[in-house]
Amino acid sequence: MSSGLKHRIFSGIEQLFYPPKCMKCGVYMDTAVQSSASIQACFCDQCLSSGFSLIDKPYCKKCGLKFVQGSSDNHVCQSCLKTPLTLGKVRAAALYQGVLKDAIHLFKYQSCLSVAKVFEDLMFQTYEQHFFKDPIDVIMPVPLHKKKLKDRGFNQAFILIRNFKKKYEQKWGRQPQWQIDTRSLFRIKKTSPQTGFDIDHRKTNLKGAFAVMNEEHIENKHILLIDDVFTTGATCNEAAVQLLQHNASKVDALVLARA
Ligand SMILES: [Zn+2]
Ligand SMILES: [Zn+2]
Repeated sequence: MSSGLKHRIFSGIEQLFYPPKCMKCGVYMDTAVQSSASIQACFCDQCLSSGFSLIDKPYCKKCGLKFVQGSSDNHVCQSCLKTPLTLGKVRAAALYQGVLKDAIHLFKYQSCLSVAKVFEDLMFQTYEQHFFKDPIDVIMPVPLHKKKLKDRGFNQAFILIRNFKKKYEQKWGRQPQWQIDTRSLFRIKKTSPQTGFDIDHRKTNLKGAFAVMNEEHIENKHILLIDDVFTTGATCNEAAVQLLQHNASKVDALVLARA
């Protein structure tokens, strides 16, 4: 018997005794969906019913904040009018809540990479919707400090766009005009977790957190930063400050979830 066949039989038996569990509530699920790399394979129907809240009109033209009430047209929010971000425009795929929030936690803190495929698709759709026509030169995942990278084993922001080039080529039959750059921006300061800090504290916490290497890769470039979660935007904004100081022409951000 071939080892492949043995493996298939074994995993079939294994599934019989250990059907997949919902990653949120732990309930056993129907095995039929398990093999597909989809969000349905990770969460039960009950947990999924809260769904992803995709961000559509109306949202802030600058920071991407979703407006819950008021005018139905996109406009600039109070916060951006008062203290504008250094970032150009920020766009997020979905709201940081419900099952998406749980899925991001599993992805980041329990290295649950099976949800990554769903995130990658969401990110690419959002890229096409908001940045496809923009003359982006460089796509840059927000870097982690090397200690954190070592502990986690991966940079979640990079995972979100690792297949962007392939997706672009498959869909549009040509090469994108941008490059993915994971080497020119560094995180030089270990920052404490941002959760629970107010915006001023977050900003201070991040001051001087980033450094640029290879200025020639930054100079006159329109850069699209990538991150998983955007809350106050302090992280992406501080990275943008650093990139603009090294003569980037413009820095925008694309994130998976917007708080
Ligand atoms: Zn569940
Ligand atoms: Zn705004």
